[in-house]
Amino acid sequence: STVPLGGSVIPIVNKLQDIFAQLGSQSAIELPQVAVVGSQSSGKSSVLEALVGRDFLPRGNDICTRRPLVLQLLQTKTDEEYGEFLHLPGKRFYDFSEIRREIQAQTDKEAGENRGVSDKQIRLKIFSPHVLDITLVDLPGITKVPVGEQPADIEARIRTMIMSYIKQPSCLIIAVTPANSDLANSDALQIAGIADPDGYRTIGVISKLDIMDRGTDARNLLLGKVIPLRLGYVGVVNRSQEDIILNRSIKDALLAEEKFFRSRPVYNGLADRCGVPQLAKKLNQILVQHIKAILPGLKSRISTALVSVAKEHASYGEITESKAGQGALLLNILSKYSEAFSSMVEGKNEEMSTS
Ligand code: GDP
Ligand code: MG
Repeated sequence: STVPLGGSVIPIVNKLQDIFAQLGSQSAIELPQVAVVGSQSSGKSSVLEALVGRDFLPRGNDICTRRPLVLQLLQTKTDEEYGEFLHLPGKRFYDFSEIRREIQAQTDKEAGENRGVSDKQIRLKIFSPHVLDITLVDLPGITKVPVGEQPADIEARIRTMIMSYIKQPSCLIIAVTPANSDLANSDALQIAGIADPDGYRTIGVISKLDIMDRGTDARNLLLGKVIPLRLGYVGVVNRSQEDIILNRSIKDALLAEEKFFRSRPVYNGLADRCGVPQLAKKLNQILVQHIKAILPGLKSRISTALVSVAKEHASYGEITESKAGQGALLLNILSKYSEAFSSMVEGKNEEMSTS
């Protein structure tokens, strides 16, 4: 289930994101990442988990994702698999259920224990030999009626939070709509359509194909005959709440998904639109194309950032040693990555071919 990503641009992008996050400017540079959007309980966290191939996200039929989770997947050459949070540097989590508990604890800490929502990020890196080198963002789902500690304007707040991620022209959007609801009422497609009206960076995901009404199927949805989408749709079957309670493994779930599609003739001939592995593949292809397209712009932005850091650095003068030191360090790091970008833009583009 590993889909190798050609070229080495993503680790550099991830590094830059870290640097800018440390600086407190969430996106001084618009960097490519992948965000999942949709209504609450549509299956967003389940889709992300399946893409990662590990169990570590809070999931369930109440509001579970209450802070944005920025998840950097980093492919390692060794067999070691672990997570590390930005707020706990150096602490390696080898037990993925402990990662889930830490996410929950950090969520409660910032957003309260009673369903409150906060736009403050949790940043987590996952090192694994089985992942793509990409950054994924898990976001709270769109809800309509305030519950618990949620303010009256919860829907507007969540929409604003989601938009702050997906309006970035470099953000790929996975728009999740459950198959047992009407696509024409999809919150996911609606908000994605505002951020990306031409559909250049929106992938449609139809979740919960296993619990569609008897006698119905998602064939026309997946073919784009109901609501066309430039990048198309992928249908998925993730674990049900019962599976979660029974602790069913992600591996079993992927096998069950494969069997589901194999045993239903209606999905014959749609193999490239069915299943989480296909979603990973599609994402990979789109991501590489996307990065290729934005590299020149990214490069000039980095140059601009570099100049302003240099100016700021000069303006510190003798005021504080440590600040000047920090500035110099940052400058060094940035110029290093800027050079890496330059060589990628100018020289080795063919390395990133998807074919
Ligand atoms: P989120 O709120 O969009 O992040 O949704 P979650 O991933 O937390 O899932 C919400 C609920 O739907 C959980 O109980 C999941 O087990 C269940 N669920 C998600 N995807 C599927 C699916 O494909 N089939 C079934 N039967 N249940 C699903
Ligand atoms: Mg969620």
